[in-house]
Amino acid sequence: MRAFLQQAAERLHAIEDRLTVRTQIAAAVAAMSIVLVGTLAAGAALISYRNTAALIENNLAGTAAMVSGRLDRFMATRRQEMKLFAELQPMEQLWQGDPAALRRSLEALQHSFDFAWIGFVDLNGDVVAATGGLLQGKSVAARPWFKQGLERVAVGDVHEALLLASLLSQRASNEPYRFVDIAIPVRDASGKLLGVLGGHLDWNWATSLIKDVEATDGNADATLSILSKGGMVLVGPQTETIRYDGDELAAILKAGDGTLRETRDGRQMLTAFHVGRGFRDYQGLNWIVTASQPASVALAAAISSAQTILAIGAATALIALSLAVLLSRRIAGPILAITQEADRIGRAHGPTMLARQSGSAEVVQLSRALRSLLRRIGHAEERTKEAELRASENAMQLQEDMLKLRELADTDFMTGLMNRRSFLAVADDAVAFSRRYKRNMAPLMIDIDHFKKINDTHGHAAGDDAIKRVAEIVSQSIRTTDKAARFGGEEFVVLLREIDQETAVLLADRIRTSIESAIVRHGNTVIPLTVSVGLALFDETDRDVQDVIERADQGLYVAKKTGRNRTFLMPISDERAARAA
Ligand code: GH3
Ligand code: MG
Ligand code: MG
Repeated sequence: MRAFLQQAAERLHAIEDRLTVRTQIAAAVAAMSIVLVGTLAAGAALISYRNTAALIENNLAGTAAMVSGRLDRFMATRRQEMKLFAELQPMEQLWQGDPAALRRSLEALQHSFDFAWIGFVDLNGDVVAATGGLLQGKSVAARPWFKQGLERVAVGDVHEALLLASLLSQRASNEPYRFVDIAIPVRDASGKLLGVLGGHLDWNWATSLIKDVEATDGNADATLSILSKGGMVLVGPQTETIRYDGDELAAILKAGDGTLRETRDGRQMLTAFHVGRGFRDYQGLNWIVTASQPASVALAAAISSAQTILAIGAATALIALSLAVLLSRRIAGPILAITQEADRIGRAHGPTMLARQSGSAEVVQLSRALRSLLRRIGHAEERTKEAELRASENAMQLQEDMLKLRELADTDFMTGLMNRRSFLAVADDAVAFSRRYKRNMAPLMIDIDHFKKINDTHGHAAGDDAIKRVAEIVSQSIRTTDKAARFGGEEFVVLLREIDQETAVLLADRIRTSIESAIVRHGNTVIPLTVSVGLALFDETDRDVQDVIERADQGLYVAKKTGRNRTFLMPISDERAARAA
């Protein structure tokens, strides 16, 4: 169960992530509206149905009670009329007098009231006089009403006309005559029983009463019935059938009045009943008056009110939904704007700022927080850029410094020529080049003659000046492709490249003569200056640059030995030459 709930929650979250705030709000409002409207409509429909049903039941009960009352009152009145008639003093002579006169009186009574037949029967059961002369002279001794009438004022239940059926004129509706009998014992002044006054009330009046009520009670669907206390239908649909019996009938008779739900002809019916209990000294025959209405009528009213409620609810829900859509658009709008802004900022180059957004406290807060974040990012970006700039500046400075340092390291401080170390590196490359491309190359070794003497005579500073001057002359005398270096003290080396032996000697001698002819001053004194030059040509048998420089140095030695201020080209030793050959 827990796992299932967890899974359901996860699925819901997954769906939520795919739905926009707008959709979610609209869906929530729609769900709320449906639940609310549905509950309200169902509740209202239920209440409405109950109220309508109760109203109809009350209405039916009122009708049943009214009809029942009218029936009893009618019966009581007829009974009372008969009784009064029987007891009338002027009638005393007539009972035993002229039957024709009695018949006239009886006919007068019949015409004022709704009797189908009134007759006076003697103690033997023979009809003495009767309205219309019907049954006159015939015996009714066997009729129950006569037997009861001998003893008391009796009212008999409805029955079909037996003896009179053939005598009374046929009715238009062809319906059989049905009667309610009233029998009154007739006595003389002394109280002696003379006979029985019997009257048959045409039951038709009850049918018309019911029709009358059905037509005027304002309830078009109501059906009225009159049932005997035996549960048989006297008036109403399915006459002569037993509608209620057994416990049901007993319950109805016991209750006296009330309502019940029943199924008749496959229809649900609301039925109100009322049992007639008589009127004044009339005991009544316990007739059951029922008023019924199909339950569907009550239901229809309830359904119609529920439908109205539902329609109003649906309209309300629709309005709520549109409001929710509008509202959600307002709520989601700023969030969407922030998202688009953030997206734009993500793609933009350089510092940028989020526009202020409003719409709700959260949106204002979010926009404020994002703006603050962007400010911090912008600040950090600026600082990073500054640091990068400084780093690159530093790197450039460093490179410059390194170049300077390298230059310093490669250069002779006093003369500005290359120093020995940097010269040897260049000379190494030149040797490799000459060897690979079989090119000529010749180093010159230059040494100032009797320099110690210059120092001694003119001072160390004058010696320095002399060194500088010689350096100047050497670098002015060579081609740009040639390299000159101060090798130490007052000793210089020049590397001549792409040169033949003859030109090399010529060039070396030109340097020598240039120095010889130069006027080197120190203060007011002119310092005479000469140099000796030794040179050698690179040979394939030279192992490295040192070999050929060594040879040039030997040449210098020879130049010094042979008188100074001269140039000497040192050839390869015979042994080496022989080996090479
Ligand atoms: P030689 O003709 O045989 O070359 O005689 P020399 O006197 O020139 O002998 P050598 O070349 O051996 O002498 C070099 C002298 O140069 C030794 C030293 O006192 C001097 N010297 C070396 N370097 C400097 C320098 O930088 N400045 C000065 N003023 N003198 C230097
Ligand atoms: Mg020297
Ligand atoms: Mg010297």
